[in-house]
Amino acid sequence: MADFDNPYAEESPFARAHFDCMECGGKLWEYAIQGQMVCEDCRSVFASQDVFDAQIEAH
Ligand SMILES: [Zn+2]
Repeated sequence: MADFDNPYAEESPFARAHFDCMECGGKLWEYAIQGQMVCEDCRSVFASQDVFDAQIEAH
C-alpha cells in the first residue's frame, strides 16, 4: 500500500500559511474552515483576505 504523507493531517485543523503576522512578524497559521489566520506568537487573528491584501500591497 502506498503511504501518503499528508501535510493536512486530521489531528491539526491548522495549515501553516506563508505569511507573517502584521502585528509582530510571527508565523501565521490558517484556520481553513473559517478563513482566518492566527499568529503563533501573539495569537492575533486576521481574516485571510486581509492578510492577502496586505501582502500584495507590501510587494
Ligand atoms: Zn503576531
